[in-house]
Amino acid sequence: MEYISTRGEAPVLNFEEVMLAGLADDGGLYVPLEWPKFSTDEILSLRGLSYPEIAEYVISPFVDNAIDVSTQRKLIKLAYQNFGHSSVAPLRRLDKNVSILELFHGPTLAFKDFALQLLGCFFEEVLRKRGERVTIVGATSGDTGSAAIEACKNRDTIDIFILHPDQRTSEIQRRQMTTVTAKNVHNIAIQGTFDDCQDLVKGMFRDRKFRETMNLSAVNSINWARIMAQIVYYFSSAVALGAPETKVAYSVPTGNFGDVFAGYAAKKMGLPIYKLIVGTNSNDILERFFESGDMSYRAVVPTLSPAMDIQVSSNFERLLFDLAGNDADVVNTAMASFRDLGLMKYPPEILSLAQEIFYASSVDDEETLRVIKSIWEDFDILIDPHTATAISAGKKASLESEVEMVVLSTAHPAKFPDAVIRATAKKPELPQRLSHILDAPEFYTKLPNDLEAVMDHIRQPATSQG
Ligand SMILES: *Cc1c(COP(=O)(O)O)cnc(C)c1O
Repeated sequence: MEYISTRGEAPVLNFEEVMLAGLADDGGLYVPLEWPKFSTDEILSLRGLSYPEIAEYVISPFVDNAIDVSTQRKLIKLAYQNFGHSSVAPLRRLDKNVSILELFHGPTLAFKDFALQLLGCFFEEVLRKRGERVTIVGATSGDTGSAAIEACKNRDTIDIFILHPDQRTSEIQRRQMTTVTAKNVHNIAIQGTFDDCQDLVKGMFRDRKFRETMNLSAVNSINWARIMAQIVYYFSSAVALGAPETKVAYSVPTGNFGDVFAGYAAKKMGLPIYKLIVGTNSNDILERFFESGDMSYRAVVPTLSPAMDIQVSSNFERLLFDLAGNDADVVNTAMASFRDLGLMKYPPEILSLAQEIFYASSVDDEETLRVIKSIWEDFDILIDPHTATAISAGKKASLESEVEMVVLSTAHPAKFPDAVIRATAKKPELPQRLSHILDAPEFYTKLPNDLEAVMDHIRQPATSQG
């Protein structure tokens, strides 16, 4: 399988190269040159298979011969064996025609584990084969950092350094990172904001000498392999609900547009998805785009669903490229106008194509709390604030009655206890297997918001928190 960049200037790469590279060197994102297509019979044949079996079927055309089939099977099994539910991604019926897809049974209780657990296994396999080591650096305001740490811990070929803003993550999120006692895991608390952390990471990648000596790598949401892993649960859930005969639609809590783009990919591969609903919080750029074509930047406001406090959804570029018929010129013009004017310019037909498939709705904090409360009162189920935005957006989409709507539940309620308690006066309990983090010792290094100081720290081979 060959992969091309959305900006048209970077070299064509194979799967292994795309996974290790992350971002394309022309600043674009990699996408498959051609999409694998499954026939109705092939989709029917997935019925009754286990999650790892469906994953193998969906993923193998993308991985191609970069990893041989029996190794792929072994790694997929490993990646999903630490999930706290035997179905990995169980569906739970909420109401007539509405189900919740629980994507929070992974080791860090959020859907990012689906991609990162697999990516960790694949990275290690490929690096070992090449005899290489990498240093992964990343910035996190919460979920991504812990999911990346869990995916990379105790791997011989990887050192991972995660920067978080000191005192500015929730306690649970910080403890999920800082209580991990693996030799190759290094937490850094930066005296600054999340943006400062991100700037430090960008600064390290821009320093060519540092990048090359440390063999820097990233596992952020633009990595193609992450999208690929997320396509699987669209297939597994649709088939479980009776697709391809049954019409299914998905409502997805959206920030960087990676998760919902995986749904778009599933549709391109032949899964009959009737509608993709984008749920956002008050950071509503996507609602404005899908409603009226207005893709203009506004400042980010903090909300109860912090993983979606984003105004520039990086994976949107992949959609734009696809809707433009793989025309990199369209993407380059759009991204340049967005960067220079804060307003994305694109040909008008893009919007109507997008509206055929997508519907978007922005949900503010008040509505989010109301939804958490009503789901608790009506169904005895606690949901997290991200999931709540998707439930609300899904309702507003007013789908026809024969369509089965699947709401992606991207985080366990115990990850966001404050919002849940405010809405329901009930405290969501951490699952037993995580309760130890509440009193385990924490390991991290506090550093100033200073690039040289952080790079010095990462250069020391002996830094370890274990
Ligand atoms: C990351 C995240 C999202 C947003 O997913 P994208 O792929 O960035 O759109 C939604 N909910 C939770 C809980 C997350 O951690």
